[in-house]
Amino acid sequence: MNKEKILEIKNLSQHFKLDKNTVVKAVDDITFEIYKGEIFGLVGESGSGKSTLGRSIIKLYEPTSGEIIYKGNRISDKKIYKKEKKYLNKSMQIIFQDSTSSLNPRMTVADIIAEPLKIQGIYNSKEERLNKVYEMLNLVGLDKSYINRYPTEFSGGQRQRIGIARALCINPEFIVADEPIASLDVSIQAQIVNLFKKLQRKRELTCLFIAHDLSMVRHISDRIGVMYNGKLVELAEANELYNNPIHPYTKSLLSSIPIPDPRYARRRNKIKYDNSMHDYSEDKPKWVEISSGHYVYASEKELCIYDQELNII
Ligand code: ADP
Ligand code: MG
Repeated sequence: MNKEKILEIKNLSQHFKLDKNTVVKAVDDITFEIYKGEIFGLVGESGSGKSTLGRSIIKLYEPTSGEIIYKGNRISDKKIYKKEKKYLNKSMQIIFQDSTSSLNPRMTVADIIAEPLKIQGIYNSKEERLNKVYEMLNLVGLDKSYINRYPTEFSGGQRQRIGIARALCINPEFIVADEPIASLDVSIQAQIVNLFKKLQRKRELTCLFIAHDLSMVRHISDRIGVMYNGKLVELAEANELYNNPIHPYTKSLLSSIPIPDPRYARRRNKIKYDNSMHDYSEDKPKWVEISSGHYVYASEKELCIYDQELNII
């Protein structure tokens, strides 16, 4: 894999102040990188901060602290972001978790998909734009005849595919895909996963692919990060994470992947995770590279145990 960094996240925090006494640390001191052309899977239960991280990266929020560096530009800096905004809007796109609320109900499918092309002035003639819309509909498996219909006339899965077509039509270099397949039928899920793989291969698309469990991301991701409660708790190449999970939360996620064969599923032990198992009162946890490219969030004492598990010492 190409190891050129497209995105560097350094000690990024995104805190939301709800009132005078309550702060939600949705993203809390996270550090990692995404390489050009890779699909980086991000998993974690609902409320762990995945969407907030994805949205922070494309600058829908002002970060509370830390740095976001995209293709060498420190876009967490307001001035730099402003200067690069036009380019960034073309280069980075997001597919929202819930496309229903992100599609304008008064616009036709053709206008929705062509909107970014229009804003960016990529094709001048209406005909060129329309051809691109047809190409995108075909790519996401929607019928040509839909172009003059409105979002409300579609199912959730179809709307999601309209959102995907819109995000991809300006040929972005980097995409945040926030649970893009959660609302789709299994057969269409596989189709969309294949589409991302194809775009990765053919256009060197880089993608932060967010999901709430580990079943689909395994097939799509080069590397996977696991989030819990605003923290990245583990990160490794996909196979490494599946074969040698270290953090108890990752183990618990892996143990709850649905298994199609009920005979096997019955015999399997689900591992429960309880974060009170960590005693971080004095022995503070850190983000540590425990083996090459495999990172874990752990205290010194935990690291000794994990090292033994991995047979490092
Ligand atoms: P996930 O995508 O993993 O389900 P989110 O990033 O949506 O998690 O949310 C993480 C936490 O941050 C949750 O506790 C959520 O309620 C809170 N949160 C997210 N967005 C906001 C916001 N705009 N204002 C206040 N709290 C928020
Ligand atoms: Mg989310």
